[in-house]
Amino acid sequence: MRIPRALLDPRCRLPAADDQGLVAVRLEHADGRIQAIHAVAAGPAEESLSDPHPLPLALTPLVEPHAHLDKAFSGEAFPNPDGTMAAAMEANRREAGSRRAQVVHQRGERALARAWRYGLRAIRSHIDSLGPWAAPSWEVLVELRRQWRGRVELQLVALVPVGHWSTAEGEALAAWVACRGGLLGGVLGAPFRSTPADRNGLLALLRLAERHGCGVDLHVDESVEDHGRGVALVSGLLLEHRIAVPLTCSHASSMGLLPDRPCRQLAETMAAAGVGVVALPSTNLWLLGKRPGRTPSLRPQAPIRQLQEAGVTVAVGGDNVQDPWFPGGDFDPIALLRFSLASSHLAPWRRLGLSPFSTAAAQLLDLDWDGVLREGAPADLVVLGASSWGDLLARPPRRRVLRSGRWLEPPSSEEPSPLLVACHG
Ligand SMILES: [Zn+2]
Repeated sequence: MRIPRALLDPRCRLPAADDQGLVAVRLEHADGRIQAIHAVAAGPAEESLSDPHPLPLALTPLVEPHAHLDKAFSGEAFPNPDGTMAAAMEANRREAGSRRAQVVHQRGERALARAWRYGLRAIRSHIDSLGPWAAPSWEVLVELRRQWRGRVELQLVALVPVGHWSTAEGEALAAWVACRGGLLGGVLGAPFRSTPADRNGLLALLRLAERHGCGVDLHVDESVEDHGRGVALVSGLLLEHRIAVPLTCSHASSMGLLPDRPCRQLAETMAAAGVGVVALPSTNLWLLGKRPGRTPSLRPQAPIRQLQEAGVTVAVGGDNVQDPWFPGGDFDPIALLRFSLASSHLAPWRRLGLSPFSTAAAQLLDLDWDGVLREGAPADLVVLGASSWGDLLARPPRRRVLRSGRWLEPPSSEEPSPLLVACHG
């Protein structure tokens, strides 16, 4: 197969990567682990069309750094046809009112089963954690985390308005979440209005995370206004109070609308504060900058390239899947990678174009494996029915996923559609 050089042990002696960043290799594995990586001769990509046996493009399993399993697949029952943020919030509120343990279990199981066969190895999911649905959702997803351990690692984050952490209830919630091995999170800015109390809530959150040894993942600046104000506040507090907690800013969308120089300065401050970023282009491009009767020309999303340039670790996530916030998505990392070429100009043949879906996402989630194949690494692959990046981008590829040296069943999306059985030519 042909594998991106960035996903192969840098110490492994291999021929130089081709102009697509790929190296043709043969892998030996035993007992679920890679035993050896051998170079094989392969012609350049343009010859593969005439080659009767071109080599498939392969990746290592990918990482979803930002999802919402508790509300996934709820969009048909709670639709948001205009796709506005306000209507999403309202539909989310109504849907949460009917959210019970059983329905969260169905959604979580369905999401994990899809993710597994699509080639995801880890998901970080936020959970709406303020309201009567919070405890049942947590109990169900903690149990699913246990059941799926070793297949899809599930990380859970408590999602509340950030001001909640400065209340007595917030303090109790932090201890409760820490007991369950979760992360603390919060919404800073949109869809809520920013207030001076945000600073106190955020500082309380950071102190609670430090006290309980929890990571933090915030929804911050999901907006076209207040350009980067939330990420600036977070980074400033971390630096000022010398708080050392692993912290991820999800969204960071409005920062992308800053002019070059302030954007670069803010990115450098974030790098100094050790903040990571999860960009969420599909939900951002769908919800933000929307005006009736206008096709938007703004791209309100995290400034991925500028952040990478400043040394910030950046991952890309799918965020909402078939819920009131975004009607599409399917926990398919290859679909997200294909989407991000146009939405975010991430070229997967470049190291920093691919890393947000793989190694950088693994780093943000602090996973045991960075996703690089080396002797002793998991014998885990996503082998694609595509011989080049162009082939991968031209059409949704079929795939075969290898986990611990065993092939999984193909994703159900590759089965013939039951909706078309009556359609014969
Ligand atoms: Zn989210």
